[in-house]
Amino acid sequence: MPSVRELTEPYENFMLGPRRGPEVCGVCFNFTRGFTRCYACAHGEQLIDVVAPISYSVAGEQLHHALAAYKRLTGDVARRLRVELAAVLWRYLGEHEGCVAGVAGRAEFELVTTVPSGERDRDERHPLRWIASEVVGPTRGRYERLLRRSEHAVAPRAFDPEKFVGVRRLDGESVLLIDDTWTTGANAQSAAAALKSAGAGPVGVVVIGRHLNREWHENDRRLRGISRPFDWRRCALCGS
Ligand SMILES: [Zn+2]
Ligand SMILES: [Zn+2]
Repeated sequence: MPSVRELTEPYENFMLGPRRGPEVCGVCFNFTRGFTRCYACAHGEQLIDVVAPISYSVAGEQLHHALAAYKRLTGDVARRLRVELAAVLWRYLGEHEGCVAGVAGRAEFELVTTVPSGERDRDERHPLRWIASEVVGPTRGRYERLLRRSEHAVAPRAFDPEKFVGVRRLDGESVLLIDDTWTTGANAQSAAAALKSAGAGPVGVVVIGRHLNREWHENDRRLRGISRPFDWRRCALCGS
């Protein structure tokens, strides 16, 4: 069985570590035109205490393909991608969960959960839940399915505090919410809203890929400015 380090090595060639900066959204690390928040974060609800993207995921490029295929495909290819992405999450949390929890004012998160899929039938067999609850060493002992998709009709990709509901009352516990991709953040913010109405304390979000389009504005130049290969010793929160 290959090690976490071996499984993540091929990803170092295309993972792109976000860093803070004057033209970077202070919430989600999207590139901006000099604003402290990107459009979605400036205009949307903010229920999450800290967002930590492991890498940028550029539309049409390798990480984007992996993040789409691990949940769409079946068979050996899907299984390989699931194990590799689990290793990425494992290695990142092993080194940097303390950075994320620190911003949320805690030493570590007490509970771990995943953002349920917006589509109810897909949620029943979502591989991200398998990754976080059964595979990844730093999360599997704390994993609990805390949210479910409500019956409420919600526009896709829109923030809605009623989109998800908590499955039990919480008593101020800190929650690490894991998702594969952050685009506008509406899904994760909706999940955080449901966790907080259930009584959660601080909510931190770790996403594997912060989605970007290379063609938009100066994203290509900004992405080419990120040092490679990917450096596991630094994260978006401690590496800036
Ligand atoms: Zn943002
Ligand atoms: Zn860090």
